Amino acid sequence: MIDFELPENIVRLREAIHALATEHMRPISREYDEREHEKPWEFLRMMWEISKGTTITGEADGALREARGTRHLASVVSTEELSWGDAGLYLSIPNAGLGGAAVAAAGTPEQKQRFLARFREGEPKWGAMAITEPGCGSDTAAITTTAVRDGDHWVLNGTKIFCTSGLMAAEKSEGFVVVWATVDRSAGRAGIKAFVVDHHTPGMKVTKVEKKLGIRVSDTATLVFEDCRIPLDNILGSPEVEKERKEGFKGAMATFDATRPVVAASAIGVGRAALDFTREALEKAGIRIRYGTPPTKLTAVERDFMDMEANLQAARLLTWRAAWMMDRGMRNNLEASMCKAKAGLAVTRVTQKAVEILGPLGYSRKYLLEKWMRDAKINDIFEGTQQINLLIVARRIFGYSSRELN
Ligand SMILES: Cc1cc2nc3c(=O)[nH]c(=O)nc-3n(C[C@H](O)[C@H](O)[C@H](O)COP(=O)(O)OP(=O)(O)OC[C@H]3O[C@@H](n4cnc5c(N)ncnc54)[C@H](O)[C@@H]3O)c2cc1C
Repeated sequence: MIDFELPENIVRLREAIHALATEHMRPISREYDEREHEKPWEFLRMMWEISKGTTITGEADGALREARGTRHLASVVSTEELSWGDAGLYLSIPNAGLGGAAVAAAGTPEQKQRFLARFREGEPKWGAMAITEPGCGSDTAAITTTAVRDGDHWVLNGTKIFCTSGLMAAEKSEGFVVVWATVDRSAGRAGIKAFVVDHHTPGMKVTKVEKKLGIRVSDTATLVFEDCRIPLDNILGSPEVEKERKEGFKGAMATFDATRPVVAASAIGVGRAALDFTREALEKAGIRIRYGTPPTKLTAVERDFMDMEANLQAARLLTWRAAWMMDRGMRNNLEASMCKAKAGLAVTRVTQKAVEILGPLGYSRKYLLEKWMRDAKINDIFEGTQQINLLIVARRIFGYSSRELN
């Protein structure tokens, strides 16, 4: 039997987070967009206290404890509401983040305990993941950062760019950065491994924090590694280069199966914010969307609005399905890329259309709509661009290898 109703505990969670977003995120949204690199510490500390110990660290509190067994569904539903509040603030919330997702996907039970326990206690902390380099983003096989074994250590050398929360994870908290590096360039993808670099490790340095179009409160850092020595057992997965089976790389890539639905949910939250704003503005102007009216009698604005709504709904259903599959331990590689590609495109189009429909009201900085349009595009870029996720979808459906599709 198919059931599209959310469980009662998740409905309550959604209501609670919506109230939090309305009360604590919307009022500071514009201010921290304009202040760009400043952190809203009051909000961040409040979120740390509410959320520490939830989701990725496995220990759940309050409403999330009840949501056990529906953890990934709870996560995408919460993310949509937080991003409806403000996507940049949502991305800035202290937690294990992408780095934590990598440890959860590829770490041993001992590593999970060693690296993730810190997110249950103490001061706010951040986790980050650094893959992208000046010469490689989509083509991860081209990674040039090296990890060379030297006695009881790995020695990392290279530069990583555009690392979300890189500054907070590496230098401003007791967090960590998961760094992708090659142990053998001749082995291509099979030589790429993920390494956990603890905060303030000598040899790791933040050299730049980007100024950006959108999600401006979230830090996006350049990290340089110069003879950065980390313990041998900070490698996630096996140190062996298994050229045939590519296990290490697959393990690291599994991170994205968990995180792409969350990015999709964030995109949907931004799109819904724009849609809600547009509906209210139209109503104030005396225009109501007449659902159920024959297509030939609808105005162009009504048709546009329904199209925006339908695209967000479609993206949401794909996202919930990808999360639901994870909650059941099912492989969701195809569905994770599908929902990410759909939601990234939908939010970009929905926010642009909303600005177009409302004209000056959408373009003015008096309202948040122009900000949501700026915040939207990143969802089509990070964690696999639109094009890359569509390639993955095609590969899965037709059974092609990535080489055959390039
Ligand atoms: C705000 C922000 C935060 C980020 N956070 C992180 C982070 O936390 N960690 C991290 O490691 N990275 C992060 N990134 C980097 C992001 O993941 C990359 O920018 C993205 O993967 C694209 O890589 P690239 O920039 O090298 O672009 P390229 O790979 O050079 O792509 C450029 C264009 O070419 C297209 N393209 C590339 N290859 C193909 C192909 N085979 N077929 C068709 N089209 C193709 C792409 O879709 C894109 O449109 C972040 C980026 C931004 C902007």
